[in-house]
Amino acid sequence: MCGIIGVSSYDDCATELFLGMNALQHRGQDASGIVTFSGHFRLVKGNGLVSQVFDAESLEGLPGKTGLGHVRYATQGTLEPAMAQPFYMNYPFGIAMVHNGNVDNSGELAAWLHDEQYRLIETTNDLELILYAFASELEKKPLPGIGSEDIFDAVGAVQRRVQGAYAVIALIAGKGLLGFKDPYGIRPLFLGKRTENGKVAWAFASETSCLEMLGYEIAKELAGGDAVLIDTDGNVQERHFSAAKPGAFCVFEYIYFAREDSSFCGSLVAEAREAMGKSLAKRFKERGLEPDVVIDVPTSAEFFAQGLADELGIPYRRGFVKNKYVGRSFIKPTQAERSRTVRLKLNPIPSVVRGKKVAVVDDSIVRGTTSKRIVELLRQAGAAKIYCVSAAPPLRFPCVYGIDMSVKTELIAGAKSLDEVAAFIGADELIYQSLEDVEACFPGVGLCSACFSGVYPTGISPESIERIERDRIAAKKAG
Ligand code: SF4
Repeated sequence: MCGIIGVSSYDDCATELFLGMNALQHRGQDASGIVTFSGHFRLVKGNGLVSQVFDAESLEGLPGKTGLGHVRYATQGTLEPAMAQPFYMNYPFGIAMVHNGNVDNSGELAAWLHDEQYRLIETTNDLELILYAFASELEKKPLPGIGSEDIFDAVGAVQRRVQGAYAVIALIAGKGLLGFKDPYGIRPLFLGKRTENGKVAWAFASETSCLEMLGYEIAKELAGGDAVLIDTDGNVQERHFSAAKPGAFCVFEYIYFAREDSSFCGSLVAEAREAMGKSLAKRFKERGLEPDVVIDVPTSAEFFAQGLADELGIPYRRGFVKNKYVGRSFIKPTQAERSRTVRLKLNPIPSVVRGKKVAVVDDSIVRGTTSKRIVELLRQAGAAKIYCVSAAPPLRFPCVYGIDMSVKTELIAGAKSLDEVAAFIGADELIYQSLEDVEACFPGVGLCSACFSGVYPTGISPESIERIERDRIAAKKAG
């Protein structure tokens, strides 16, 4: 999972990209990059947080009113600095690109690009495949006079050729800023418009909160198969290609990944989490469990816990203090780093839990190691009973669409029965949300829930899933 932003403004945009990437930092902490265009591409990228890669001097070296920004969370490829986005190419025309997602048919695409388009693939980053596929399609048009119809034709061809989940922003030199999505609409992308003293700026970004913080009004949520071009005069043109019905928006955006102040498909994430928390109360009532207090694993479970406490009619309290200067454990790339992070990150507040039956809510249980550690910490702090609650259903299948759950054996509910998961975690009770209850919170929205159900909307083959798992393991070993 990554965060992407693209700006077409009336002023130099590097600082705005930097601020927008800070608002998207939760979507990726491995690497950051900005490219701007002012007759030439200027690129700065590297491993680390936005604030570690950029300073005032590097932003000054990025002139141009149009640009792209990316925060990377490595789900595919290694952590070498060269794998950081954006990527760009200069010949036969200038194209810079960022993406969020994962390509399912990368082997087939790489072979086509190498054998038939004579392109040398230099990285294992999916973006290179999408960039070259787009350039190869565009190159079929008469140069140099390509127009918006040619650009849209190339997008349509890419959407037919590239399988998987992708939200893409491209900067095409002298032509404009382009956003498009895969036919299933798995990853998010929004278009925003800002008017200031009669001047208009446009921006694409992964989340509404990012655009709103930069002063943009949300003009459009791109659906599966959508493409939008902002030309160099600021005109907006749209096309809609080959959308899959129903769509398959990633339900995990609501559960874990997105900020609570972002909205997708008409649902504010905070409200969706509260509704999912309320539906968890049923599980307590079925089992006759009567906790004294609900606490959350900060901070992504906060709204689930509030909803659960409201529905059960018991207090919600902050039971842990989180050291916010330690990274999110889920997106740390290795198990050793994750374990260290949990130990440093959370400390219980004994007076909240001592002698109490405590329902502790987390957004999901991935490997189970965080939950196990949390149960140990609560016992040490004197909790009488611990009811461990996952706001997500059991995660049993790898995500092949850009979230770091690519290896089934790393998913505790994929490898063990639910009784074995409960025993591993050591809680007095383990409660999972049901998939039906999650889906009931989003009526009319086509969702991807493959990591819970094993039903992959793009119809990816078992062989491709195995290949993605193998690549992922190899990339982790390579670091
Ligand atoms: S498999 Fe899960 S995490 Fe991956 S896109 Fe689908 S819902 Fe999201």
